[in-house]
Amino acid sequence: MRRAAAVRAGFADCTRAGIVRRGTLRSTATPEIHQTAESILHLIPLPAFADNYIWMLHNDAGQAIVVDPGDAAVVEHALLERQLQLRAILLTHHHHDHIGGVAELLGRHPVPVYAPVDDRIVEATIRVSDGESIELTSPDVRFEVLAIPGHTLSHVAYVGDGLLLCGDTLFSLGCGRLFEGTPAQMLASLDRLSQLPGETLVCAGHEYTEANGRFAHTVEPDNPSLQARLREVAGLRTRQLPTLPSSLADERACNPFLRIDAGPVADWCRRQHGGASDRIARFATLRSAKDVFR
Ligand SMILES: [Zn+2]
Repeated sequence: MRRAAAVRAGFADCTRAGIVRRGTLRSTATPEIHQTAESILHLIPLPAFADNYIWMLHNDAGQAIVVDPGDAAVVEHALLERQLQLRAILLTHHHHDHIGGVAELLGRHPVPVYAPVDDRIVEATIRVSDGESIELTSPDVRFEVLAIPGHTLSHVAYVGDGLLLCGDTLFSLGCGRLFEGTPAQMLASLDRLSQLPGETLVCAGHEYTEANGRFAHTVEPDNPSLQARLREVAGLRTRQLPTLPSSLADERACNPFLRIDAGPVADWCRRQHGGASDRIARFATLRSAKDVFR
């Protein structure tokens, strides 16, 4: 039987941290150190470019994995700063800001690169598909692979240890643009993610939460959960802190793209086009409106 891992969400130079043990989430004002070091994973969003996050997971033995390393220098700095050894790279989709640092990292760290089946990701060493599992021993993590087309056709998510690493498909208070997929595909992907446990930590690829929140507020101005989340987000960004990871429960309560069936969201969609009773049409209406929202 696999042990219950714990994940500690830490933010390099800040005081906001969340600690997860399977099935529970609690936030703390200051980072905590658990005594049972072997069961601890540290989760760190590494800011890259203007608004990307490269997600790093490491144990207390100094073994790390990174997800979507668009910038090798950011990862190298974090490895050096924390005295970590890179053990694996996971990729969600082919966009350059998510894979651009892989070749350089492989030059110094000969590690496996897990990636979806897509010829545009040439650095992949292990291709993953929907329903497969990835099991690593150092750090000790296990992820299920979910195919979530929409932003791109080969986009995947990695789900495990209370985490959802979802690239550019689900953002806090928003979702990714449809560069390759259809609204029906993206909605089906978001539906899959939305069914994960509420305490799942959403580790998205970009810090888009404030802008997403402005759009969400135009759709559901009277949603008290959204109002509370917007206040939280404003406070975090004022202090230049990440708004991620968020919890899936919060996203279900606040994110209009996960609330296609909620009355206020359906009403808003109907007002846009004079009728969008079909949920795919409502999703398409919402996504199109967000595309041009300023
Ligand atoms: Zn992308």
